[in-house]
Amino acid sequence: MKMEKKDLHLEVKKMESLLQTSCRTIWENPEVGGNEKASADYFRRLLDAEGFHIINEEHLEHAFCAEYGSGKPVIAILGEYDALPGLSQKVTDKKKPVKAGAPGHGCGHNLLGSAAAVGAIAVKRYLEAEGISGTVRFYGCPEEELLCGKVKMAYYHMFDGCDFAISWHPMSANMVYDNGYLASASAHFEFKGRSSHAAFAPELGRSALDAVELMNVGVNYLREHVTSKARIHYTTDSGGFAPNIVPPRAGSWYFVRAPYISDVKEILARVGKVAEGAALMTETQVEMKVDYGCCEMQENHAFGDLAYENLKEAELPVFDEEEMAFANRLLESVSDADKEKAQKLYETEGKPMVWKLNSRNLYEINPLTASSDSGDVSHMMPMCAISTSCWPAGVAPHTWQSAAAAGSSLGEKGALCAAQVIAGIAYDLYNKPEVREDILKEFEEKKDEYTPMYEG
Ligand SMILES: [Zn+2]
Repeated sequence: MKMEKKDLHLEVKKMESLLQTSCRTIWENPEVGGNEKASADYFRRLLDAEGFHIINEEHLEHAFCAEYGSGKPVIAILGEYDALPGLSQKVTDKKKPVKAGAPGHGCGHNLLGSAAAVGAIAVKRYLEAEGISGTVRFYGCPEEELLCGKVKMAYYHMFDGCDFAISWHPMSANMVYDNGYLASASAHFEFKGRSSHAAFAPELGRSALDAVELMNVGVNYLREHVTSKARIHYTTDSGGFAPNIVPPRAGSWYFVRAPYISDVKEILARVGKVAEGAALMTETQVEMKVDYGCCEMQENHAFGDLAYENLKEAELPVFDEEEMAFANRLLESVSDADKEKAQKLYETEGKPMVWKLNSRNLYEINPLTASSDSGDVSHMMPMCAISTSCWPAGVAPHTWQSAAAAGSSLGEKGALCAAQVIAGIAYDLYNKPEVREDILKEFEEKKDEYTPMYEG
């Protein structure tokens, strides 16, 4: 008997306990970007046991592709699993780390990877049962929080041969993002000066730290004269000397973000000029190293429409009284005004969690101003992006509250819904050639030259 989409949803539901185990296992062993060995291995094993072929492992230690099926279309499902430094948190309504200073899943990537894997398994079972042409690929994508994993994977051609990509992210809403993600780049600046006794012979010293400070001042003036949506942030590692030693070295690390990667490149070049100016003023030398950059998300409304239809058809997370009460307690640290603002924006009707489908155009008034290396994928093939309700409206990602929610049934229920949506979208892509054509047509119209901003 032919499998229908509702059968695929059921298949996902049957895997609820597997999904919970996966969400919890990854949550309990948080690993920061570049260090996701156990997490990547967990997903490798899970998919290998299900009959996927693990390919493309040779390029990056914690990146891989698990493939099943043959022929077209080839659908990529993007999974992430890295955690954030310092966000260790118990599943409780008070700030309480499992281990002080340890990493934690404040961005819910434990849910992200798990729902993507379960969605991919359901799709594999569908392809197997129907024996139709089509390939599903789960991509194990490391280092998302560093905004470079998928850029490196693109550099190593790991996404070659894919036709469509499905992505999701835990959030406060059941919604589709047609666009979003600011393009971003990371650069390091290293200043070298000359050391001296700061009191005995200050005239012999050239302070690298002065250069860092002057560079930061210069960049803060530059802010007024770049596109207003740009974001520039920095940190410095210029310490370790005593005040009576003129610092011979100092460094700073910058992120530049803007709506388009072309803006980012332009602003970064100007930041470089400010650094040179600071070096000139202080008679120091500066070396600028651009680490990597990632693109904004290329919009595809046809794909967004398909994703939205699938959100409508899936079972949205239903939170019981106890869960709503937990969500309310997580919101205690948020001011009433901020809470009300978020609940209005996310259309929760006074509840702490989004419990219904958000409007199709919510992304227009609530654009994603963070960045993601998934943006690069959307320039290589059409990509859709959804989010489901995983933490309270008013709680921001990268907080102890979101880490607590991601380790609780709030996040797991959101993940189950996401897995159904992912499977449903893939079902439609295999079965509706006309929808595929619309999506590809829009992609071709908007397509631009893409090269990963990474040099190996
Ligand atoms: Zn994230």
